[in-house]
Amino acid sequence: MQVVNLRLHKKKYLQNKRSLRYFLTKTENNPPKNLDDLAEQIDKEVWAETACLSCANCCKTMSPTYTFQDMKRIAAHLNMRIKDFKAKWLYLDKRENDWMNVSRPCQFLDKKTNMCSIYEVRPADCASFPHLNKKPVTDYMYIHHQNIEYCPATYKFVEKLKERILLSKMVVKKIEVEAGE
Ligand code: SF4
Ligand code: SF4
Repeated sequence: MQVVNLRLHKKKYLQNKRSLRYFLTKTENNPPKNLDDLAEQIDKEVWAETACLSCANCCKTMSPTYTFQDMKRIAAHLNMRIKDFKAKWLYLDKRENDWMNVSRPCQFLDKKTNMCSIYEVRPADCASFPHLNKKPVTDYMYIHHQNIEYCPATYKFVEKLKERILLSKMVVKKIEVEAGE
């Protein structure tokens, strides 16, 4: 498990954002047959290498979306009425019709430990973030497109996916050349 270096992540993102974003668009439009299997394998590798508690950049810079069930569960946990919970911390994004945090970092982030103070009842969006294991992968490419800037795990996932797909294409090409096709 590696400690996340957010400065290094930002530097790498700025250097490679064009090629990684181009790769995501191309792969979304023309996915290889084994994309979901490959993504499943890389998802495991990424989490074996990424220590989220050394990062928490998602909780610091982004907002989850809150479903009604999320609001109900969290408000009950905090012994509040849903109405008061919303009034205290959330706003309605009218474009997307999503309930979001008013402030960043998230009010539930413990800034000393990077831990979520409502972990057991956190929004479903937080529990599945950054959605690297969602299938089919092509349906989530636009999310990786958005998150690659902020989430080092997503960056690593896309980088590895790109390397593996390019490598397998090169191997196929080499075999074709050797076979004289
Ligand atoms: S609810 Fe918890 S996991 Fe979700 S953004 Fe806030 S601190 Fe992070
Ligand atoms: S999910 Fe991504 S942004 Fe959030 S803590 Fe983990 S590596 Fe950092």
